Amino acid sequence: MSYRVTLIPGDGIGPEVTAAARRVADATGVSIEWEVVDAGEKAIERDGSPLPSGVLESIRHNHLALKGPITTPIGSGFRSVNVALRQQLDLYASVRPARAIAGEGTRFPETDLVVVREATEGLYSGVEHWVDRDHTAAETVNVITRKASDRIVRFAFEYARREHRHHVTAVHKANIMKTTGGLFQTAFREMAAKYPDIPADERLIDNMCMQLAKKPEEYDVIVTTNLFGDILSDLCAGLAGGLGVAPGALYGENLAVFEPVHGSAPKYAGQDKADPVAEILCVELLLRHVGETEAADRVFRAVWETIAEKKVVTYDLALPGYTPHPVPASSCSAMAKEIARKVPLVDPHSPLPRPSGAGHGGDPHLEA
Ligand code: NAD
Repeated sequence: MSYRVTLIPGDGIGPEVTAAARRVADATGVSIEWEVVDAGEKAIERDGSPLPSGVLESIRHNHLALKGPITTPIGSGFRSVNVALRQQLDLYASVRPARAIAGEGTRFPETDLVVVREATEGLYSGVEHWVDRDHTAAETVNVITRKASDRIVRFAFEYARREHRHHVTAVHKANIMKTTGGLFQTAFREMAAKYPDIPADERLIDNMCMQLAKKPEEYDVIVTTNLFGDILSDLCAGLAGGLGVAPGALYGENLAVFEPVHGSAPKYAGQDKADPVAEILCVELLLRHVGETEAADRVFRAVWETIAEKKVVTYDLALPGYTPHPVPASSCSAMAKEIARKVPLVDPHSPLPRPSGAGHGGDPHLEA
């Protein structure tokens, strides 16, 4: 089977980390034809728009995209390409696995959870206005619909089933936002009843933050609304080892776009210094999505072994402050080369190094 994938190199460190990811993807032997298109700064220079229509057409046609980070221009009048992409392609599910890899760069080596965030409505609907002429009061609209809530909670249960996850936790604030939070809560409860094989429970957002800071290993799939998901997924990326190792995926109907959690880190652009792992793990997610499970397992195992060996790792995984045993930092391309070298050598059939204790739910007695 051959796949055609839209590749958006992006801005800042984007071209370096996407080149790294492509190198590792090619090492799997899976036949991928890359259709390279520009969005962001290069596209503004050439086409006068950060998101030319050709980018959307390419993703709609190929159904799959690997994306580098894109800088949001400040004060230029262009809105975020990332938000525009999500809205125009109706990429409603933002999925961010937070897996501690080889216990490096984290105080929580058993973290292995996934945040599923509704990405089209909630407090990011962009409906805001001033209440008075003097601009002393402002309001924003929190749009929650039954349709979008059903869609995201169904996605979370289906994802849990497909990925052999064990438990789904809904996060909301229905005790205070009784109408909007309550609507999401009702959608979750009714959907949970249709998946009796998957244990489900709920947490209030404030309690969830406390629980995650204490024992993230007790959570598995977390499903929530837009703003809470945005915040929780960064928190969980930090718990699992930081931005350098945090991949993400955006799913719509028949479309999937894979991109790291991190941004374009302009201060490291062109220095061959950035950690390529987040973008490489986006390739792993892409391969898993299309059913190339063995290739996906190889990529994950090669990343894991490279980080565990700590001979060829970038600065964020090498330096004091990030690790108790500092080593010299390698370049982005050297780390990618090492991971790609390992891909055909690792044993994809040995069980993935999934930490024990993951996914059996939190302690309900600690609810706030
Ligand atoms: P950022 O993630 O780009 O960088 C924050 C810091 O994290 C960096 O200075 C660096 O120290 C570290 N970092 C990030 N990625 C790393 C990597 N791969 N390896 C090692 N260290 C890494 O966040 P920012 O500075 O807030 O944003 C920069 C630009 O990126 C902004 O224009 C922002 O809008 C954009 N952005 C884009 C996306 C996206 O395209 N999906 C996501 C977030 C931010």
